[in-house]
Amino acid sequence: MKPFTVRLRFHGDLGLFLGSRASDGVIERRLTEKTSIKDVIESCGVPHPEVDVVVVNGHSVGFDETVAGEVEAEVFPIGHCRTRSTYKHLQYSRILIFVADGHLGKLTRNLRLFGVDVAYDQNASDEQLLEVMTSENRALLTRDRRLLMHAVVQHGYWPRSQNADEQTIEVIRRFDLLEFVAPFTRCLRCNAPLEETAKADIIDKLEPLTKTYYNQFRRCPRCKQIYWAGSHFSKLQKRIDEIHSRLRDQP
Ligand SMILES: [Zn+2]
Repeated sequence: MKPFTVRLRFHGDLGLFLGSRASDGVIERRLTEKTSIKDVIESCGVPHPEVDVVVVNGHSVGFDETVAGEVEAEVFPIGHCRTRSTYKHLQYSRILIFVADGHLGKLTRNLRLFGVDVAYDQNASDEQLLEVMTSENRALLTRDRRLLMHAVVQHGYWPRSQNADEQTIEVIRRFDLLEFVAPFTRCLRCNAPLEETAKADIIDKLEPLTKTYYNQFRRCPRCKQIYWAGSHFSKLQKRIDEIHSRLRDQP
């Protein structure tokens, strides 16, 4: 096959994935065989779950579109072309359940604090993560770009920040979760939804001071952890308020 050139322009923050070789977001690829646009995009370092719209020679296309001659491609991230209804969107804007890789323990805890369902096992292998993702239809959260590029990944996100609070805001924003946030409704240890529990049912498990000063309790039905508005509560509440107000200020 005669060699041909694919010229890609990456929009929005997709430039983050290109590194220093393309400060203007443009990359040219010289190819010698028919290739899917998805493979061409990922060869530039951009994982497909980060891509919402691809326009090839003026036409909005799917990831399986093959290129076999000179083309110009425009590649857009999620949220960049919401108003253009004629475009084919390749990602769901809203997903409510997640699986996080073993390096994202703090992000997982934060999201659970907000009531978001995040499966997490610190020691999970890549295969196990992908298995949970596929069988439970979860979106994958990982800073491992190679993993996000795996062919079985449909939905996922690469947290930009290394800071867990920033990552939390990013995830809530990316997946449009704000109206589903329900603080203190999920077990921070094992992810199960908490249940209200009568003080009388757990009173033998409480320390004397807790017994005296608190009357409202929630319990995890799975790992039996008991939650109440103790000393750590106001600290957590403050963090939640901070994150909430940042989300409101920067929609
Ligand atoms: Zn639990």
